Amino acid sequence: MARREAPAAGPGSRALVVDVIRSAVAISRVELADLTGLTAPSISNIVRDLIADGIIHEVGSADSLRGKPRKLIAINPQNRFGVGFHLGPETVTCVAIDLTGGLIGREMVPRVAGALPEQLTERFDDFTAALDLPRDRIEGLAVVAPASCPGDAGPSFDRAALSSRLGLPVIAENDAAAAALGEFWSRRVSREQSFGSIYVSTGIGAGFVFGGALFRGASFDAGELGHVSIDYAGRLCPCGNRGCVERYASMAATAAAAREIPALRPVIGAATTDSIAYDQVARAAVNGNRTAFEVIDRAAALLAVAVTSMVNLLDLSRLVLTGPGVALAGSIYARRLREHLERTAHARLRHPVAVELSAQPRDAAGIGAAALVVQASIAPGHTPGPAT
Ligand SMILES: [Zn+2]
Repeated sequence: MARREAPAAGPGSRALVVDVIRSAVAISRVELADLTGLTAPSISNIVRDLIADGIIHEVGSADSLRGKPRKLIAINPQNRFGVGFHLGPETVTCVAIDLTGGLIGREMVPRVAGALPEQLTERFDDFTAALDLPRDRIEGLAVVAPASCPGDAGPSFDRAALSSRLGLPVIAENDAAAAALGEFWSRRVSREQSFGSIYVSTGIGAGFVFGGALFRGASFDAGELGHVSIDYAGRLCPCGNRGCVERYASMAATAAAAREIPALRPVIGAATTDSIAYDQVARAAVNGNRTAFEVIDRAAALLAVAVTSMVNLLDLSRLVLTGPGVALAGSIYARRLREHLERTAHARLRHPVAVELSAQPRDAAGIGAAALVVQASIAPGHTPGPAT
C-alpha cells in the first residue's frame, strides 16, 4: 500500500492524536506518527501541549528495537470530567465520567414539573456536589432526550441561558446518537472502524461514528432506524410511513404484542407502563418461559431485518446493541442479529460484522451524553449538537 502523504498539522490534528491515543490505550510517539501520518515534530508539539494541559500523561516505557526505550503515553483519566443528563418521560439519569469514559457517578431521580433550565441547574449543582467534583475540572454538561417525531416538539430549553447559568458549555443531542458516541468512547473503538449502535427503548434509534465523529445528517436527525420500513403495506406509523420497524419491535410494540396473548397475562400482571410490562416479558423469556421467548425473539428477528438494511447502506463493521430494551434479554437480540447478518449482510464475504452487547444498556444515553462533553473538550473539531 502506498504510504500516505504526511498531512499538515492543522486544527484537526489534536483531535486525531487524542483519538488514536484513546483507542490504543498506551502508545509511543513513534507509533503515533505512524498511525496518524503526522510528522515527528508535529507529534512532539501536540503531545507536549496535551501533557501540559493534563489530558495525557507518560505511563512508562516499552523496549525498542533501536535501543533507546520508547516512552508510552496514555489518556490521563482522572483529570477532567464530563457530565451528562438523560431526560426520560418520568426520570432524569445523571452521569459523570472521566476522560476515558470510566463511570464516576450515576444517579436517577424523578423528573419534576417546572421550568427546565432552573431544574437542570439545580440538578447539576446537587449531583456534582454529591460526587465532590471540582467545578473547574468539569468540562460541561450534555442533555439528551429521545428524538421527537416530525411536528412534535421534544423537551426544549434555552441552551445559551443554561450555559451562562452554569458557566459551562452545554450540548444537546438525541439519546440514541449520544449512546453511540458513549459506546465508541468507552470501548476504545478505533476511528478507522465504521461503528454503529442500536438503541432499543420505547422507540428505536441508531447512532453512527465515522472517523471519530458522530454522524448527524442535515438536521441532526440521522439514525432514525425505528422508521426503516420492513413492510410497505404494514402498520401505519405516526411519521406517515407504513411498516416502520418501531411499530413491531420497540419496547412499546413488544409490550402491546405480549398483552394480546392470554398465556402472558400472569407474567405481565399489573404492570402499569409499557416499559415495566416489557421488562416482565423479557425476564420471563430468559428464564425459560417459551411464550415470552417467542414474543421477544420475534421482535429481535424483525429488528434484525431493519438493522441489516442499515448495515448494508453504510457498510458498518462493528455494532453495539444498547438501551433499556436489551438490558434483560439482550442475548436474544444479539443471537438473532448475528445469525441474520451472517446469512444476509452484503459485505459478509469481505469482512465480519461484529455484534456486541452494551455493558450498561440502561445508562448508555447518559454515559454517551457525558462522553460528548469529554470529546468536545479534549478532541474538539467535531460538529456540535442541534440548537435547542
Ligand atoms: Zn415511522
